[in-house]
Amino acid sequence: MKALRWYGRKDVRYEDMPEPSPGPGQLKVKINLAGICGTDLKEYTDGPGMIAVDKVPLALGHEFAGRVVEVGRGVTNFKVGERVTGVGYWFCGECYYCKRAMYNLCLNGGFTGLTVDGCMAEYVVVPRYAVYKLPDSVSDEAGVLVEPLAVALHAVRQGNVRPGDTVAIVGDGTIGLCALLAAKAAGASEVYLVAKHRGRGEIASAMGANAVVYLSDGNPVQLIANLTGGLGADVSIECVGRPDTPQLCLDLTRSGGTTVIAGVFEKPSLVHFQSVMFKQKTIVGSPIYVDEGKTAIALLADKRIDPGRLITAKVPLKDGVEMGFEKLVHNKEDNVKILLQIDA
Ligand SMILES: [Zn+2]
Ligand SMILES: [Zn+2]
Repeated sequence: MKALRWYGRKDVRYEDMPEPSPGPGQLKVKINLAGICGTDLKEYTDGPGMIAVDKVPLALGHEFAGRVVEVGRGVTNFKVGERVTGVGYWFCGECYYCKRAMYNLCLNGGFTGLTVDGCMAEYVVVPRYAVYKLPDSVSDEAGVLVEPLAVALHAVRQGNVRPGDTVAIVGDGTIGLCALLAAKAAGASEVYLVAKHRGRGEIASAMGANAVVYLSDGNPVQLIANLTGGLGADVSIECVGRPDTPQLCLDLTRSGGTTVIAGVFEKPSLVHFQSVMFKQKTIVGSPIYVDEGKTAIALLADKRIDPGRLITAKVPLKDGVEMGFEKLVHNKEDNVKILLQIDA
């Protein structure tokens, strides 16, 4: 089968590889659409980061929509032909954290497209617990966004966003924009997005952001303070992963509020803890998701969230490097989520 395989930094190849077959408890899915994630992009530009170097070459990708073509031994809840999407985690089910249903913290975990072959391919094999059926009301295009939506929904849960809250999101990538949708769905009355790129900020406005604050407009802390009666937001969500964004998020948050860290960091950040102590702020991490993939599908099915605008292009898998990865590296204004079309 054809796949996009990671060999090294700036070296992702469209080539043939053996077709996988499902083990016990696993499904084989024929991929229709695969999404290029910020994580995939970081592996392309700066990797190896999270990719397992001993598994290279490795097919990238963990965001997909497709159809079940084979079920492994013991799988009774899926049938061949069903439309599905999925999330990326593999967990053991046995460790301290899995026994407490904290699957995102599994001690023996893995990740599709980073530690096992991923979905930028004609077929992928995934564990049954990481697969969800797509109802007729959810298109493949929406389904492929279930994974990033799950990340965002977990972040909103970690921040304990409640009806009526004000939420400030830092980051205009897929996760930042999904966090906007998730915060709205959780009942936040005002959601502000701190953006770098105008094109992406416009998508945020179109998806219901109450205000978009551009870094080029001046100090975002002052601008968000102006929007919140001088207080700052109840909850802020960091979706960038750069050294200066955690401090920015803390400064956007009111006294007694919560800052959620959802970005992936390569370098340490400098944070002044004086305001955390004196202003009684909470900082909480948010790694991937537990069962929020299911939540995402429910919200998509009854149209409480509509992520359609996030998809800025669909390109054939074979052109994925030039028309996908390279476009996302060089033109963040006009691109957010690029989907790879497998049969194109
Ligand atoms: Zn992703
Ligand atoms: Zn485990």
